[in-house]
Amino acid sequence: MKFATFAQGGRDQVGLVDEAAGRLHPISAATDMLDLVARWDALKGGLKPQGGGLPLSEVELKAPIPRPRRNVICVGKNYREHAKEFSHSGFEAGAVKGAEIDEYPAVFTKLPSSVTGPDATVSLHSHITQSVDYEAELALVIGTGGRDIPKGDAYRHIFGYTIVNDVTARDRQRNHKQWFLGKALDGFCPMGPWIATADEVDPENLDVKCWVDIPTLVATISAGLTLEPGDVIATGTPAGVGIGFNPPKFLKSGDTVRIAISGLGELENRFA
Ligand code: MG
Repeated sequence: MKFATFAQGGRDQVGLVDEAAGRLHPISAATDMLDLVARWDALKGGLKPQGGGLPLSEVELKAPIPRPRRNVICVGKNYREHAKEFSHSGFEAGAVKGAEIDEYPAVFTKLPSSVTGPDATVSLHSHITQSVDYEAELALVIGTGGRDIPKGDAYRHIFGYTIVNDVTARDRQRNHKQWFLGKALDGFCPMGPWIATADEVDPENLDVKCWVDIPTLVATISAGLTLEPGDVIATGTPAGVGIGFNPPKFLKSGDTVRIAISGLGELENRFA
């Protein structure tokens, strides 16, 4: 199943997406996406489309989790070719230098306030940065929380998958020698268009191929740290970002970024 968050009557509501029919069926059994995720085992058997629903093209989709309870957890340099393009770009600084993938994944976070929805316009914050770049990422949403999750159990903790654009101000990433200030700006985490539940997605056969696999990421991140229902983990970008071009191609006002991952839909945002 696919679940979206949409605006209706001045509040956010969860809906079941029928992509083929282009319809969205409001779900009254859950107050919001975090509630749906937390009570998924009890709710999933009873969720059926009721009535004709709403035309998907006419609703305002929000990020599936518009305001996560905690920071979005992100993985850096999870693709060999991206590690190379990043290393050769001149924008790399701090403790994670090098064209090779390290055996220990680089992990950082983006603030809940950086999350924005599909079709939202993202500010380039041009008074503080001149080098805003995009990163297309597969993100997983934790369903059942846990700590010290063994690799073999990782998939049982995943509620579903969505798309994240890990928008990055490269000059701030370079100048401050860490990743937070360049990646946590307001609007720098577009997410959506919806969450596809784990039973619908084979994450090992998507168009994107992570170097560090999902079970290893979940095991690594949950070591000594409790993952909670609704936590979002973005798994890193493949090569092809703006700094991979020579000269770099940074986003400018009026640009649109569209990210598609098979089975997960398309996430499109305009930058201004
Ligand atoms: Mg990234």
